[in-house]
Amino acid sequence: MKNITVLGSTGSIGTQTMDIVRGNPDLKAVAIAAGSNIVLLEKQIREFTPDIAVVYDEKKADELKKKVTDMPVRILSGMEGMLEAASYEKSDIVVTAMVGMIGIRPTIAAINAKKDIALANKETLVTAGHIIMPLAKERGVKILPVDSEHSAIFQSLNGENKESIESIILTASGGPFRGRKKSELDAVKVEDALKHPNWSMGRKITIDSATMVNKGLEVMEVRWLFDVPAEKIKVIVHPQSIIHSGVEFKDGAVIAQMGMPDMKLPIQYALFYPHRRYLNTKRLRLDELGSMTFEKPDMDTFKGLKLAFDAVDIGGSMPAVFNAANEKAVELFLDRRIGFNDIADIIEYAMSRHRMKNEPSVDEILETERETIEIIKEFKKE
Ligand code: NDP
Repeated sequence: MKNITVLGSTGSIGTQTMDIVRGNPDLKAVAIAAGSNIVLLEKQIREFTPDIAVVYDEKKADELKKKVTDMPVRILSGMEGMLEAASYEKSDIVVTAMVGMIGIRPTIAAINAKKDIALANKETLVTAGHIIMPLAKERGVKILPVDSEHSAIFQSLNGENKESIESIILTASGGPFRGRKKSELDAVKVEDALKHPNWSMGRKITIDSATMVNKGLEVMEVRWLFDVPAEKIKVIVHPQSIIHSGVEFKDGAVIAQMGMPDMKLPIQYALFYPHRRYLNTKRLRLDELGSMTFEKPDMDTFKGLKLAFDAVDIGGSMPAVFNAANEKAVELFLDRRIGFNDIADIIEYAMSRHRMKNEPSVDEILETERETIEIIKEFKKE
């Protein structure tokens, strides 16, 4: 029996993780956590009978407590609750499927408690990779990527020597606005940006995919997960999302992982690594697919991707600024308070005004987040 904690169990990755738990009787979700969706959390408590359920929102946690008095579950709340679930003694592996920098402290708590991490919460690695990766090494903890591109790279590196890597091929679907020019994106509506051509995901990452900021965050994720400098990471737009990413080796060989777009595959792979199990998913039929296409990313229209490479180059606290500015800008866009192109402009504005910190501590990263949110308030559209 493998015991897992799922932080963000009510979200897109979280519910797909629970599907995998449902399909594998030797997996047990012993702790689950969400932000505020107590309706789904109650259903999950009744179906999966975890020992611990956390609701970040304290009022909602009190409401949930009253609803599940008949169940043998401890309801916890706030960051304290998240930290307790992350380090729960019975848990073997923690799936970090919450969205945003809120994941930093629980991820560190889980590593300190020697739990392996199935990492979906990319914002944590982007902003605190310099803390997470050495800590995981020191504690003998595995960081197993859940993001489909990083899982593909991880699978392509199986049995290979890291020194033989020539470059990383990071594929991108290009999102719903591939082929459009910046001026055509000024009037984009929230509904249009939420229509991803290939993947069904949470709202924040769907907007990140439309701006290609998501690919920028993934460049940073690659940098930390595989210890590869940014200049060796090549972003290639591949609209069909069949090649999920790969590695070019020194001898010219390219090994990549292919499959139909389905997040259950990388989630399950992380949970059972190094074993592969049957997965009831749509199979790739190359003859039916016919063709695959590839193109260079348009970094003028999708400036967020270019800014991500700049942030990695600068290093220190700059990736945290990039990420925090994006999180806030996406929230404002979803609230219809700014336009689509303003997202990248806000990131650029925040980066240009930041006072750098080298090797920031967790407190300094969180302080950088607060400072960035303040700086953004001064942003004025030109
Ligand atoms: P969703 O928005 O669908 O889900 C987010 C989850 O986080 C929900 O369970 C939500 O709870 C929970 N949450 C939000 N705020 C808090 C909080 N303060 N404390 C605890 N839990 C909280 O996001 P996704 O599943 O799409 O994405 C999750 C992460 O995985 C992101 O970092 C994303 O970049 C990454 N990822 C996602 C992919 C996908 O296919 N969706 C692919 C690759 C990576 P509630 O429901 O109560 O709000």
